[in-house]
Amino acid sequence: MAVIVVGSMAFDAIETPFGKVDRIIGGSGVYLAYTASNFVKPIQQISIIGEDFPQAELDDLSARGVQFEGVERVKGKKSFFWSGRYHLDMNTRDTLVTDLNVLADFNPVVPESYQGAEFLMLGNLDPVVQLKVIEQLRVRPKLIVMDTMNFWMEIALPGLVEVLKKVDVLMVNDSEARQLSGEFSLVKAARKIMAMGPEYLIIKKGEHGALLFHANEVFFAPALPLEDVFDPTGAGDTFAGGFIGHLAKTGDISFESMKTAIIVGSAMASYCVEQFGPNRLRTLTKSEIDSRIRQFVNLVNFDIELV
Ligand code: AMP
Repeated sequence: MAVIVVGSMAFDAIETPFGKVDRIIGGSGVYLAYTASNFVKPIQQISIIGEDFPQAELDDLSARGVQFEGVERVKGKKSFFWSGRYHLDMNTRDTLVTDLNVLADFNPVVPESYQGAEFLMLGNLDPVVQLKVIEQLRVRPKLIVMDTMNFWMEIALPGLVEVLKKVDVLMVNDSEARQLSGEFSLVKAARKIMAMGPEYLIIKKGEHGALLFHANEVFFAPALPLEDVFDPTGAGDTFAGGFIGHLAKTGDISFESMKTAIIVGSAMASYCVEQFGPNRLRTLTKSEIDSRIRQFVNLVNFDIELV
């Protein structure tokens, strides 16, 4: 079951209350690939990198079943660079620098070998790029999931609205859901956003978990109360990678299956935040993933007798 992932492959500079790194591998596409490859192979990456992106990183991902035929390397240019600083609450951050570099002229080309993939994960990128990928797929994937952020709502809303009409699942955080819908109530926001196209909507609430909406149904997955949150960068992409990875592994895209998938996504994100950048994802094992999913089950499992 092939999964196409589209996203940035980048260098990040990150500052949290617990430390600082000036240059670490990042990008939505990198987090997606590291995470989804735990569940299914191949992961077919679509992205663009500069001359500076380390071959060793690509080799590490290749060994995990990630394919790069859809990744363009531009000689003499730099990879996307993003820098952010987290506030003390670790839920909010300021973007300090967004240097698009190679991303500024990204014209994605879906290679022939990716045609027929059954799952498409559109990571946080320019909606024009997301749309170009959808339009090149000759057979519509069984499921198209899209992530986006406030940055694109501010500078590319008309394009974003076009992509929304073509996807099955949208993922945003609570403030982005409010921004996109103009509604404070997340229930009203969900209704409005689903009317724009996606049949399913996931609203992420950081350390307060995630909501899954579909028609008149809603499901809630908590976030695990963690003793140490070191760096939340990539948590959203890691959540998305776990979500689509689980759905692709089972091949089941029902609402029931999506409930499990948001628990799996939450479990993966809870590991991501334990170390800087994608470092924790590099060492993660299957038994660690399973044990954390069990912790989630225990967190919310209770018996009740109504009197
Ligand atoms: P997250 O913490 O899940 O929102 O993802 C953080 C990652 O997204 C970082 O590694 C950045 O390199 C990447 N990123 C930040 N802004 C953008 C953007 N405008 N387009 C593409 N990728 C971005």
